[in-house]
Amino acid sequence: MSAPPPRPAKRSLGQNFLVDPNIQKKIVAALGAGPADEVLEIGPGKGALTRHLAGRVRRLVLVELDDHLALALAEEYEGRPDVAVVHADVLETQLDAISDAPAALNVVGNIPYNITTPIIFHLLARPRPRQIVLMVQDDLADRIVAPVGTKEYGALSVGVRTVAQVERLFKVRRGAFRPVPGVDSCIMRIRPLVPEPLSAQEEDRLRRLVRAAFQWRRKQLRKILRDHPDVARPESVVAEAARQAGFDLEDRPERLTPEQFVRLAAALH
Ligand code: SAM
Repeated sequence: MSAPPPRPAKRSLGQNFLVDPNIQKKIVAALGAGPADEVLEIGPGKGALTRHLAGRVRRLVLVELDDHLALALAEEYEGRPDVAVVHADVLETQLDAISDAPAALNVVGNIPYNITTPIIFHLLARPRPRQIVLMVQDDLADRIVAPVGTKEYGALSVGVRTVAQVERLFKVRRGAFRPVPGVDSCIMRIRPLVPEPLSAQEEDRLRRLVRAAFQWRRKQLRKILRDHPDVARPESVVAEAARQAGFDLEDRPERLTPEQFVRLAAALH
């Protein structure tokens, strides 16, 4: 009997499989997880990264949404106490539900492009893992690491960099995937700051402020802080907050560093 034909990749699940073994190994090496570590792999697919991790770490948790791929992984790792296959949407999976020590988790994934930002913020909700090594689209990486004052610098850069250290590790050309995507990618490392610099409530306030500021990124901070419906502070409070955070009210939001946004959110409160 001949083998069944391969299933076409599902675009709706962002399935671009990494077929270059050197890059697979390089990603796993960048994670640097060893026999004492627990690893969460997001979207293991056909096991491009999984096969370099299984047996080398203390516990490997695989979260895969695709029915067939999750089933195939469950069959492949059946009877392995060190590998757990979770057939679920990662965005609905809480880290403390899959690990007894989520703060020590190492997360890795070649993940779907269309949900990269939600995945990053999901992983940066609490509890936060030790480190996250992810494949992201080049232009998204540009936005995360963008220098202050550039057009790429925005709510994403500030949102990630106020709670984590970010590092762009290496480029991955589109030819390393099947099917070949329309863009190049890169591997990023995101290390949540320990201890957490802000309380959950402070982070919430900061997020709302940053979102409002970049919604009106062409306007001066004086106008944003006074007139944006999500901020709306009296002129005197705005002036004092600007003094405390160390910026001019004529500045536009892209002039403020992540640290200044933190100080501004505190001063406005
Ligand atoms: N890691 C494999 C590789 O490198 O070849 C597959 C990468 S592919 C870009 C993304 C994988 O994530 C697919 O296997 C897809 O089915 C899975 N996936 C898509 N959405 C997901 C979600 N919300 N939760 C978990 N896995 C998801």
